[in-house]
Amino acid sequence: VKRLRPRSIVFGPVASRRLGRSLGINVVPYKTCSYSCIYCQLGETTNLTIDRVDGVSPEEVAEAVERIVKRVEVDFATFVGEGEPTLYSRLGKAIELVKRIGVKVAVLTNGSLLWREDVRRDLAEANYVCAKLDAGTEETFRRVNRPHPALSLERVVEGLREFSKSFSGFFGIQIMLVEGVNDSDSELEKMVSILREIDADRFYVSIPTRPTALSWARPAPMERVSALAKALARAVGSERVALLTAPEGPDGFYLGEDVVESIVSITAVHPLRMDLAEEVLRRMGVENPRKLIEKLVSSGVLKLVSYRGVDYLIYSRRRG
Ligand code: SF4
Repeated sequence: VKRLRPRSIVFGPVASRRLGRSLGINVVPYKTCSYSCIYCQLGETTNLTIDRVDGVSPEEVAEAVERIVKRVEVDFATFVGEGEPTLYSRLGKAIELVKRIGVKVAVLTNGSLLWREDVRRDLAEANYVCAKLDAGTEETFRRVNRPHPALSLERVVEGLREFSKSFSGFFGIQIMLVEGVNDSDSELEKMVSILREIDADRFYVSIPTRPTALSWARPAPMERVSALAKALARAVGSERVALLTAPEGPDGFYLGEDVVESIVSITAVHPLRMDLAEEVLRRMGVENPRKLIEKLVSSGVLKLVSYRGVDYLIYSRRRG
């Protein structure tokens, strides 16, 4: 059954490497996305679409954000979540209402729909937008992002370029490098020649640091990361290039009153390192965090997965 509502509208705040204490906002149903990236930390896309959906009302979104920011300090309210946020047809209104509360708004998008005028208009009032580009050729684009058939790299790049010209907030582009898929010299060279034409404030070179949709999608070696960072720095200036390769630290998680519901809502959009989950639960006054986690795992609510030797908790529905 296609769910038109996300499971929960807000989650966190969680510690974000770029945004500080970021309150996540979830506006599209689970794994509703125009891509099915091989490295997606949410698992395989179950609803591959470029049609925008309605879902929750912008007022409900603003109310959910307001309830949290009254109690906890946040640096950004960030539209991210279980699917691609620009597929939410009332994103513009929701951004406007959240900003009215006095919170800065970020949107983490795959950027695949920026060729649409309505999507660019919806994002115009955000303070921070980060999109992605993971390929320099159509073939690699299909391999790494596995996009909806109506999308082409050319169309996506045209949208990124167009948006970068009109957007007045901070615009970032993230490039995720996957070993043996998009990290060859020729691919990097083509990516750089596309990226130099995009007027972004920052280019983030990154690798998957959490469990990926396809387990063979592994992080590119650091040598490849630095090859891209260096080539980009030469093309656009080193002040516009940043590395995003370290996993998140232990601080910055906030859990609501219901401990179980809170940990479930974080893991639904964000694989959570086992040691961080235990630490957070301990801080919330749970006496035996390991026991509670084991209970959630054995009852099928959470799943334990291992990625590069580290244990993570994920919401079990995603790997079902
Ligand atoms: S990584 Fe983002 S864009 Fe890619 S499939 Fe997952 S949710 Fe969609």
